[in-house]
Amino acid sequence: MTAADLTGEERRSELAANLADVRARIEGACTEAGRSPETVKLIAVTKTFPAGDAMSLAGLGVTDIGENRDQEAAAKAAALREAGVDVRWHYVGQLQRNKARSVAGYAHLVHSVDRPALVTALANAAGQVREDPLGCLIQVSVDGDTSRGGVAESDLAALVDSVTSRPELALRGIMAVAPLGWAPDRAFEQVAALSEKVRAAFPRACEISAGMSGDFTRAIVFGATLVRIGSILLGSRSHLR
Ligand SMILES: *Cc1c(COP(=O)(O)O)cnc(C)c1O
Repeated sequence: MTAADLTGEERRSELAANLADVRARIEGACTEAGRSPETVKLIAVTKTFPAGDAMSLAGLGVTDIGENRDQEAAAKAAALREAGVDVRWHYVGQLQRNKARSVAGYAHLVHSVDRPALVTALANAAGQVREDPLGCLIQVSVDGDTSRGGVAESDLAALVDSVTSRPELALRGIMAVAPLGWAPDRAFEQVAALSEKVRAAFPRACEISAGMSGDFTRAIVFGATLVRIGSILLGSRSHLR
């Protein structure tokens, strides 16, 4: 049975059960790490699932929703706004410059800032379409293979300077995806070290967006403040994204 076969009520109880399970696992990881659960924010990644699921999750207390494609994110953000449902939108996918204006219109935080040209496009767009600075995380590439997004460590300091030089943007921290084939602990230990470097230059940039369905408990042990959870909350997606 897939999500589409369920009635609205059945789907809501399924989401509620999944959410309770995820929250319990976040708390367990926090206990293991000696951290307070309030220091970890859950971002529900609803990509490929309907706006109704995002609304149900909001009704269950989820305040932060993640998406990785602008067209889909913009439509869902509009649908929830129209329904009077107030959530914060997180843009977590690779971002083309020509989408900067749209994303700057609805996003609370862009997790995937990884090159100077994108910084310029986002800052210019944010200056045009919003009153407050657009929150940004610099996506770091842990293994230096930047083809899947993320800046290499050697270019990180320059990118921090580029984001913090624009008043239309607010640098909040870093984001990372554990490289394929790496043990999560090895990846998240390195993410923590990169975060320390960024905070040494810019102490306010203290957020660490790390951890997905398969590895978020380890990311929390290594200091993640934002976890991006899709499939264990919403179900498996029909195709990999
Ligand atoms: C899809 C996605 C997630 C969520 O992945 P799951 O494994 O389904 O939890 C997290 N981060 C990014 C960048 C994504 O694209």
